[in-house]
Amino acid sequence: MLLKPDIKLRGITDITVELLNKYDIKALLLDVDNTMSTHHGTILTEGLMEWIKKMQDSGIKLMVLSNSKKFRIEPFAARIGLPYISLGCKPLPTGYLRGVRKLKEKRKNVAIVGDQIFTDVLGGNAVGVKTILLTPIKLEDGWSFKVRRKLEKKLYKKYNLTDEV
Ligand SMILES: [Mg+2]
Repeated sequence: MLLKPDIKLRGITDITVELLNKYDIKALLLDVDNTMSTHHGTILTEGLMEWIKKMQDSGIKLMVLSNSKKFRIEPFAARIGLPYISLGCKPLPTGYLRGVRKLKEKRKNVAIVGDQIFTDVLGGNAVGVKTILLTPIKLEDGWSFKVRRKLEKKLYKKYNLTDEV
């Protein structure tokens, strides 16, 4: 079940400390595009900064893990005050494993948070971190994204993915 997320939620701010405790998750690797902002966008998801503070106050460690290039991710991560890994090569294991090492947690206590089944979820399940799938903020243009989103739609149905809260 490499394509099935452990948890499905609507948006990042729906992640609560209680939910993370339930799954024994102590640290999060956070995707950027369509998770914390729109695809290549600069506007932060509503309530993001408050959510980050709440997580950190509760001892949840946070790190950005994106496939985008450094010139996009570095300023974004600086803006929200989090460490980052750019060019993460999801769904390959490299970026996840670097993230887990930097977070100093066991894989089973780390979760990837992202909007794409074929990158975020697939790679996360493959390396043995927990996986939290979010509904993309705004669907992208371009044929390759359209194909992927269509396939994702089928998986949403197959796995009966509905929001946990
Ligand atoms: Mg994304």
